[in-house]
Amino acid sequence: MPWFTPFFRPNLIQQKALERLGLDSVEKLLRYFPARYNEPGSQKNVANLIVGEEVTIYGRVLSSKTSKGFKSKMPMGEAVIEDETGKIKAIWFHQAYMAKKVVEGQLAAFRGKIAERNGVLYLTNPEVIEKSSLSNINGKETLFYGESEDNYLVPIYPETKGISSGWFYYHIKKLISLGEHEEIADPLPAEILKKYNLPSFATALVWIHSPKNMADATAARKRFAFEEVFFLQLARLRDKKIYQSNPSYSFKVSKLEVDKFVKRFPFKPTAGQSKAIEQILSDFHKDQPMVRLLEGDVGSGKTMVAAVTALAAVQSGLEVAYLAPTEILARQHFESFIKYFEHLGVQVGLITGKECRKFPSKISPHETTHISKPTLLKWVAGGEIPIVVGTHALIQKQVKFKDLAYVIIDEQHRFGVMQRAKLVRKQSGSKPLPHLLSMTATPIPRTLALTVYGDLDLTLLEEMPAGRLPVITEIITPDKREESYERVRAELKKGRQVYVICPRIAEPDPDKEQALLLKSTKAEAERLQKKVFPEYTVDVMHSKLNQGDKEETMKQFTESKIDILVSTSVVEVGVNVPNATVILIEGAERFGLAQLHQLRGRVIRSNHQAYCFIFSETKSTKSLARLKALVTAKNGFELAEIDLAQRGAGKLGGEKQWGLSDLGMEAIKNLKMVAAARLEAETIINKDADLSQHPQFTKYLANRKQEIHFE
Ligand code: ADP
Ligand code: MG
Repeated sequence: MPWFTPFFRPNLIQQKALERLGLDSVEKLLRYFPARYNEPGSQKNVANLIVGEEVTIYGRVLSSKTSKGFKSKMPMGEAVIEDETGKIKAIWFHQAYMAKKVVEGQLAAFRGKIAERNGVLYLTNPEVIEKSSLSNINGKETLFYGESEDNYLVPIYPETKGISSGWFYYHIKKLISLGEHEEIADPLPAEILKKYNLPSFATALVWIHSPKNMADATAARKRFAFEEVFFLQLARLRDKKIYQSNPSYSFKVSKLEVDKFVKRFPFKPTAGQSKAIEQILSDFHKDQPMVRLLEGDVGSGKTMVAAVTALAAVQSGLEVAYLAPTEILARQHFESFIKYFEHLGVQVGLITGKECRKFPSKISPHETTHISKPTLLKWVAGGEIPIVVGTHALIQKQVKFKDLAYVIIDEQHRFGVMQRAKLVRKQSGSKPLPHLLSMTATPIPRTLALTVYGDLDLTLLEEMPAGRLPVITEIITPDKREESYERVRAELKKGRQVYVICPRIAEPDPDKEQALLLKSTKAEAERLQKKVFPEYTVDVMHSKLNQGDKEETMKQFTESKIDILVSTSVVEVGVNVPNATVILIEGAERFGLAQLHQLRGRVIRSNHQAYCFIFSETKSTKSLARLKALVTAKNGFELAEIDLAQRGAGKLGGEKQWGLSDLGMEAIKNLKMVAAARLEAETIINKDADLSQHPQFTKYLANRKQEIHFE
């Protein structure tokens, strides 16, 4: 990595860490932003300290030494500090070297938090701002007070193995002092900066890394957030424009046929479903490809919309591809589509990593048959199988269609934009592009939708099918735990099944996190089996299990051979197990509301009364109030907005999922800013669809393609 040689020489561990973070240029390092800032605490005398407050103490070091933690034996640094009013001990946990840094007689400002042990106060992990002399106040030499230069904010960077926040602070400051930040062109046009009163790139870099005050830091963060949201939208809108500049299949199905098809369903469509179907069918006879997102809570009936609209393509002699995120879901959709299309004699295919199947079988016309992949691919390429359902295997190069007219993607957030693009480009050269319907059950706030789904037209399924009983949701405090187990037992007695979701574990190393989760999931299953529900069968579902075990467990749960399934939230368990009517969520305060809502969705699919027990040990009234929103909010969209307002964007189910940085997610709270960024991006795209007149944008997007397409 030669880029840093003129500036500094990181050691090998640090080089590895930089590589891992993708920081392979000066610009990338300059764009590594602090997560927060340590504010100077109020200035205090030793005599007036209170436990828990952040303070700045001006004093003199009396002594210092390294030591070991009382119980933990971890190395620490210690010093005794004195001012005119008394003495206090400073302790640096995990930073024994601090004892060498502060030596006897040293004058300094110490910034840290006051803690207490056995009735004695001490200062924890203080930052040390060294001073060389005493101040002279009113003719008296004294330890100084109120010097404003000590009031700067210290940026705190996300740390990684081998690189501390201090390392980033020091080196980025150095780059800025060398003027490196002024060498990089501002990606945002001057007119936009002026219009929205945003600081220039160079200024914003100074402000974000060493702000004089919070206002500067905030202005800088706003600018970078705007930049991110603007370019993300620019990319998405450009891709959409380009996509829609291609011709597509135009087809029409008679209303009579649609009505006949709809009548065969065992229920009446909701108003939302009818409207969605109408919208999609009308998109089908425009001469440009549809790119639409169908967003509806779990259980709102998206599959039916997919099936009815697929009919239009099938009746026109064209092909439909249905992409599902997991094998279990793919198989489930395969079976549903067979049911819906059997009476029309339509063939349906299934492609997953493991198997290929086709309906009907030649021998028994009401059953499916396993076939080899080459055979299936041959038939699909020949246009003989109008509906093909599959997992990622469907995206592979060998899969070719005759006339792929309609692509349906279920749970679309599981797929990246590139994967979507690959599927819709499955057409050979001169053929029209297929229409695209993405479906998602993840309710997200409007600002986030505008940003990350900027390339999709939106259809919402806001209501649930009539007659569906709402899930009875209750927040269970620790004293009610036993009581609720008895209520669960009552459901089990009726022959129903139960999900138990284990809490998240905060652990920065993802591998370690998964291992810990697996352990705690197994432990909880064992506890429930032995101590609580000995008369029922308890089993475990976890993403660390191998694929075969996962499927076997799922199969057994579907067949009611397992009564209680203990799982982590990461696993797509109960895809559709209508007999599971209870979900019990442990450590609920560690989940976002939207995520809790999705977990609850697993028991919505039943006609029996379903229950969601939210176990929380939290004492914080704020956390409890947040959880209460699950009881009161009308739907997932409302919850997502509450989640955003209360918890902050950073927690919306994982930033990575949306392809936005922490900073970008912060911006999502600001509807005005997102709307402004969108307006600017639209204005540019409307005049210059492929950005050929804006080479600087194209270059910027190409450099950041990885981030913008998040894969
Ligand atoms: P999702 O939107 O989560 O994909 P599904 O399409 O799987 O939901 O539908 C959930 C269940 O609701 C299915 O069993 C489906 O047959 C049923 N369903 C769908 N639409 C209606 C409706 N309008 N009335 C009653 N039940 C419906
Ligand atoms: Mg679905």
